[in-house]
Amino acid sequence: MSREPWVAGIDIGGTTLKAALVDYGGEVRALESTSSNVENLPSFKRSFGGLLAKLGKKVLPGARLAAAGIGCKGVVDTGTSRIRILPGQFAFLEGLRLDRLISDALGFSLPVSADNDAKTALVGEQRWGAARGKQHVVLLTLGSGVGGAFLSAGAMVRGCSEIAGHLGHVTVDFQGPLCSCGNRGCLEAVFSARAIEGDAVASIRRGCESPLRAKFAANPESLTCLDVFTAAASGDPMARGIVERAVAALAAAMAGMAHALDPELFILGGQIAEAGPTLFGPLRKDFYGRTLRLVGRRIPIRKAALGESAGVLGAAASAWKVLESDSLRFLAPSRLRGERSVRRIHR
Ligand SMILES: [Zn+2]
Repeated sequence: MSREPWVAGIDIGGTTLKAALVDYGGEVRALESTSSNVENLPSFKRSFGGLLAKLGKKVLPGARLAAAGIGCKGVVDTGTSRIRILPGQFAFLEGLRLDRLISDALGFSLPVSADNDAKTALVGEQRWGAARGKQHVVLLTLGSGVGGAFLSAGAMVRGCSEIAGHLGHVTVDFQGPLCSCGNRGCLEAVFSARAIEGDAVASIRRGCESPLRAKFAANPESLTCLDVFTAAASGDPMARGIVERAVAALAAAMAGMAHALDPELFILGGQIAEAGPTLFGPLRKDFYGRTLRLVGRRIPIRKAALGESAGVLGAAASAWKVLESDSLRFLAPSRLRGERSVRRIHR
């Protein structure tokens, strides 16, 4: 009897490396993680190798590892799986071929799908989440930076050199702060966890009166973006000012995207999307105020559905896509009709 194919979904995150075994229905059969806080390529390869070795041991006797998907920040050449541009923390990975990284770690080769992590997140939402059945979708990941990806007529838009989708680098203030990308006033430089935390820390240091200052005056660096949103929700005037400005920048950027791309849906993921109504309420109000006249309808703005597992599930969805485009022979017809199954096993 043939063994059930599973895929590995791997997420290279800013603080954590995660890898999961995922079946055809999108169920996570095993999950492993380790810190990604390493300083050079040899250390990274050691952590990565250890992670995949542990994951490999979780493949049950009745299953087999058929493919792997991997999501990473920056620009990934999807043809060769080579990381082309990756400024910042993981700059030492530039030039690395992710398919070789995976086959070296596992000790054997298998089909690999490698892509920018926001693009894999959108593939995951398209397959198992908020973008199911949708054709024109913009996804933004609102974290320490801002990632983006969009579907047009059901297909991922990549541009002529795979740069398309870097929506965190849409300009919202043409004379604004310098961004890591070299531009000024990018969305990411105004609306991101890093930018919001930076604003709050600066306000505390300037001595602005607020409950947030009273709480964090001794150690401003320890506050998080969600602390700022929570303080804003409870009426802290300083936090409200910071959040209002940031949300207005996001609404303005999304209005530009709506007019340029005409999506049927916006999906917001990442840690800031967890702020809930404090984010979504004012964002929708401002965004619809800017777009109703020309767009003529309220484009839904939804939270990403795959939550904490978005990274590994998105990478896994990309791996399934590669397998399906390669060949469908290994799949029994009954499994091809399968919806996401009810059973969910987390280890
Ligand atoms: Zn930028």
